[in-house]
Amino acid sequence: MIMDLHSHTKYSNCGIDEPEDLILARIEQGIDLLGVTDHNHGILCRDEQYQEEIRATAKKYADKIKVLCGIEICTQPDYRLPEGKKLSNYDYCLIENLFDPTSHMRGDLLSYVKKLDCNAGIAHTDLFSFMKSQGLDEYEYLKNLSENNVFWELNVSFDKIHGYREHAYVKEFFENAKQQDLVKRAGLMVSVGFDGHRRYDYDINRVMGANLFLKENGFKTPIQYLIDNKKRT
Ligand SMILES: [Zn+2]
Ligand SMILES: [Zn+2]
Repeated sequence: MIMDLHSHTKYSNCGIDEPEDLILARIEQGIDLLGVTDHNHGILCRDEQYQEEIRATAKKYADKIKVLCGIEICTQPDYRLPEGKKLSNYDYCLIENLFDPTSHMRGDLLSYVKKLDCNAGIAHTDLFSFMKSQGLDEYEYLKNLSENNVFWELNVSFDKIHGYREHAYVKEFFENAKQQDLVKRAGLMVSVGFDGHRRYDYDINRVMGANLFLKENGFKTPIQYLIDNKKRT
């Protein structure tokens, strides 16, 4: 099953696609499990409208693709969620800015996630550099994430909207046997996300390659976990 658990639609200020157009494009491109994860600062208080549109469209194409309704959470001061907001109706969230000193998580991801009441993944983050900078025991930290069902994203974006780039941490992970061994031993779930902002600005080969890498090397992915914990169909 080929996953892409990170994508944007018109509900993000930086996105433009109608959810239906995005879903149709991903069916065409060969994705089996798609996560729509618009930015919290684009959705704002339209949570219900957003979820209804994503879920209704998902239902329409349920025989061709599985679609999850997620949200990407910025934790920087200007874009943060309103205090006390829960995300219980989302299938999962992707958390940004773990590394950012201005993030109101202050590096404490798990406490933050617990308050949100939602399954969570870590978006486009160099987790190994983060752990090193905090002096954390890598195995213990990854195991703790794993025990709390927090997954880690390999972001394979070639994103023209937020900077055309290849993430160095992903490249490193593909080549670093020690990192791979730690992640595997800790049982950490690893996801693949393209972080697409335009449905045609997509490189399916990068998505397929990362999916294949995880499968061939026996990594745990959040695919089954997220499907089993879907909020609604
Ligand atoms: Zn964006
Ligand atoms: Zn994103």
